[in-house]
Amino acid sequence: RFITFEGGEGVGKSTNIQAVARHLESQGISVVVTREPGGTPIAERIRNDLLKAHHEEPMSDMTELLLMFAARAQHVDAVIRPALERGDWVLCDRFTDSTIAYQGYGRGLSLDNIEQLKALAQGGIEPHLTLLLDAPVAIGMGRARARAQDLAEETDRIEAEAISFFEKVRQGFLALAERYPRFRVIDATAPLEQVTEQVLKVVADELEH
Ligand code: C5P
Repeated sequence: RFITFEGGEGVGKSTNIQAVARHLESQGISVVVTREPGGTPIAERIRNDLLKAHHEEPMSDMTELLLMFAARAQHVDAVIRPALERGDWVLCDRFTDSTIAYQGYGRGLSLDNIEQLKALAQGGIEPHLTLLLDAPVAIGMGRARARAQDLAEETDRIEAEAISFFEKVRQGFLALAERYPRFRVIDATAPLEQVTEQVLKVVADELEH
């Protein structure tokens, strides 16, 4: 099974993925926890380049898009496909839905182009289940800021984007959730324990099927 976790800034994806991993492992399931952009040494190098501030020149939106997919191709080939072939469950923090939401809906790049790149990079691999942790932008940003207090670079990067950008990203995720039956939307404004309870319930349903 391939399960992805999606959502905007500060919605608690990584904490909830850890909870799901512990739950599945307690049932004797082999789990691979990974993330995007990143998840392999080469893809993590691309991530560093994507997320660090670029003082020399601004990165063009198309470069950002292609680097996201370059990282993804490596991640699929080196980590995700081999894990699924072994029969492991893969839990991934962000996947192509993030690219559609951020670079497509957020930056306004062509959704058709993104679909073409997706077909190239994924080679037919699709998530079986996608949990969208959804919260209004102001709530997620507040949490992301609190967490990032010591990480000046992350704060700078988030502050550099307009609120309207993150609103578009959120609407993009919600549009994807309406369109694809593999999505489950979880209200991430609730206290973390309640969010985790909801997430584990969705995963327990998946275990039964
Ligand atoms: O999930 P995480 O917070 O680690 O993501 C790192 C950052 O990368 C996020 O703040 C998000 O704004 C950005 N990102 C992006 N486009 C993507 C995926 C992530 O801009 N496709």
